[in-house]
Parts: sequence; structure tokens; C-alpha cells
Amino acid sequence: MNTYIYRIFLAALLLSFGITANAGGHRQAAAKQPEIKRTLIRNVRVWEGNGNKLTAPRNVLIENNLIKTLNAADSIAGADVIDGGGRIMIPGIIEAHGHLALSAPPAELGDTDLGYMGAVSVKAAEIYLMRGWTTVRDIGGPSQGLAKAIDEGIVPGPRIYPSAMIISQTSGHGDLRRLNDPHPNMGGGATLMDRFKLLADGPAEVRRAVRESLRLGAVQIKVMAGGGISSEYDPIDTVQYSVEEMRAAVEAAADWQTYVAVHAYTDEAVNRALDAGVKVIEHGHLLSPKTLKRIQKEGAYLSSQSFGFIRQFIQPGQTGGQGGKAAEVMTGVDTLMETARDIGLPVAFGTDTFGTLRAYRIGQTEFGFRKRWFDSAEILTQATRHNAELLKLTGPRNPYQDGPLGVIAEGAYADLLLVDGNPLEDVALLEDYENNIRLIMKDGTVYKNTL
Ligand SMILES: [Zn+2]
Repeated sequence: MNTYIYRIFLAALLLSFGITANAGGHRQAAAKQPEIKRTLIRNVRVWEGNGNKLTAPRNVLIENNLIKTLNAADSIAGADVIDGGGRIMIPGIIEAHGHLALSAPPAELGDTDLGYMGAVSVKAAEIYLMRGWTTVRDIGGPSQGLAKAIDEGIVPGPRIYPSAMIISQTSGHGDLRRLNDPHPNMGGGATLMDRFKLLADGPAEVRRAVRESLRLGAVQIKVMAGGGISSEYDPIDTVQYSVEEMRAAVEAAADWQTYVAVHAYTDEAVNRALDAGVKVIEHGHLLSPKTLKRIQKEGAYLSSQSFGFIRQFIQPGQTGGQGGKAAEVMTGVDTLMETARDIGLPVAFGTDTFGTLRAYRIGQTEFGFRKRWFDSAEILTQATRHNAELLKLTGPRNPYQDGPLGVIAEGAYADLLLVDGNPLEDVALLEDYENNIRLIMKDGTVYKNTL
């Protein structure tokens, strides 16, 4: 546009605003300072994410959606006041591995209805929030629309870091076709399933799939790098994607200053992913100590789960099918968690729940399961401060940049819980969230208060 035309365009634009204001009959005076909403939470002991330590009783002031100070006076003019009664304040829980859009079992995804699934996802998001989970790193499936609706205040739910489309090779863990379904890129055409995953083979297709996912709103990229439980035609030991294909994904994500997380259980799959520059390993249940040390040495991250949710599918002695695959993966969970603990490799706190509303509720059992390997303060750190480190890997794609998440600190987002009892002594008390979590605040808004 040349400058002259641009000026006319601008003048017309300004004029149109003026006309609109006049037509409304009440022209705005000079913009008023927006009113600050203040909430004072009195008499709480704060866990700042530091070992077993709690602060002495204090008052926490929240201004709009951020924590203003942990040392507020006893009364603040105009503030809503909540009396904490000496209870413990912790940051809102962060899910490192969720799937809010996978609101039907994978085998049924293709036969369901998008509107119905959307409704189930909305309910799942509400369940997460009301369990005290204020952020979900959504690691596959189109949750970006739900994220937008939550951010706009249309429905209640956690903050969501969407991955949009799951990217899988043909016959990979994301290839959820029935056996005789035609291939979408080989004359099959698109089906409802193509809202959830992209089948991509060869570096060029993988690049395109990553770009498509980013375009749809992914803030990190999810790639299937090895066999999985919920897919029928890829044994757990299969290695998926070549180094070249995965490197294409890593480069395409890096062009958007974000990263690739891979689904993988085995040494072969994880070593190949690390060779390609992958930053985050999801699951890893069958990894040897050697590969875990490599993850640590290269500054990559391990995002694993105790799989309380998957344990229910395992029948004793079962070998084939999804139950057999689940059993195979579960053989490694103790070694994985114990080795990670012993070498000091942090394990992100996630559940991998999907498929039914019951599953989303079962996610709360992750706290108790982890007590087999970690103490309560460690588990709480994984679920808050450490998980927040993973979220930061999204760089400029991070949708929430006004302050840190996963901590109670000056300037942090006001995502916090008030708890009956001491979760640093027994984190499993959070499993009875209905009784023991008395206050849930996300983004400065109170969603539950039974004080
Ligand atoms: Zn998963």
C-alpha cells in the first residue's frame, strides 16, 4: 500500500470508530484505569516448592491474576478476604502428560461424534480443575479449541498447552485405523480420525505434519517414536521413524522455537530420538540405566507415569492384545523410577489418562502410586515446579507469559490450592480432593471454596 492510500485508509478507519461511538450515543471519556481485583488470603503456611519447608503463617495478596506479595498486611482496603485458618498453600497441580481431546477410547475415536467428544472434553477439563490441577500439558489430540474456550472464560478448566495433531508413521502408535481401512495418503481420503493424528512418512511429510500442527495451535510437537499400548498393530518393541524423519520434526519445531516430545518405551527408540535432537521422552518404562543416564547427560527430560490408570486393563497372565502390551510395559516401571531417583534425573509428573470420564478421575491416584519410589515433597515438586520447567520449553509459543507457573511466589500466576493436612508428609491426601482440597484458585479466580 503506498503512503497516500494508507493515510486515506487510516482516516477512514478512525472515522468509522468515531461514527460507531456516536451511534451508540455515549462517547467514551478518557480511558479509565481498569479496576484491580484484590484477594487477600490470610493466615496460611506457604510451600514455596522448597523441600519440606513451610513458611510461618502469613497473608498472601493476589492482584488480578497474579500473586502480588506473600507478606501482606492483615487487611487491605477493597480486597475480598479468605481466612486460611493456618492451612497449607501449595501451587496448583500440573499434568505433564494429558489428552483432553481423546475423550473416547482410541479404538472408538473413529466411530464417535465430534460434538459429543467436545462435550466430554469440556467435562474432563472441569474434572481436572476441580481435582486441583490448574495446568495440563496436553500431549496429543486437538485440545486447542478447548484451550481457547477456557481462556475466554466460556467453560471452566485448566490452562492447556496443546500439541494438536499426533504425528505418526504408517503403522505407528498413532495409526489407529482398523486393519482394512484404506490409508489416508494412499487413496483412503480423510476420516474423523484425521482430526486427531497425521500419518506422515519420510522427512518431507514429517516436516509438513509438524507445520500443520503448529498452524492449528500446537505449542509443542508430539511424535510417536515406538510401539504403544492402545494401538493394535505395532508391537511395543518396534522402533518408529528414522533419525532423518525425527530430525526433520525437530528442525521444523525449532523454526517455531519449540520442541518435540516423543512417545517411546525402549532403549532403541529413545536412543534414536536423542540422536535426532529430541528434547523430551514420554513414558520410557523399559529404559536401561545406561539410556536414563544418557537422557540426563544430554539435558533432555523424562516425562513418565506410574500408570495407575493402565494397571486396570492388565489381566494376570495375559500376553496378547492391549492388556498384554500394558503388562509388558509395566514390568519396567519400578526399575525406571528407582534408577531415575537414584541418579537424580527428575521425572515429570503425569498420568496419560484418556478415553472416559472415569479415567480422568483415576488420574488422582498418581500421587499415591509414586510414594513407592519418592517421598511426598519430591512428588509435590515433580507435580509443580519441575513440570513448569517442561512448560517453559515452548519458548515464545508459551501461551502464559505473565509470570511463572508451578510456584507460590511474588509475580507468579495465582494458581493455588489450600489443603487440609500436610501434603509434604503425605501427598496421597490429595487423592481425596473433594474433602482435603478446600480452596482452588486459577488465574486469580476462585473455583472452589469450602472454608
Ligand atoms: Zn499419551
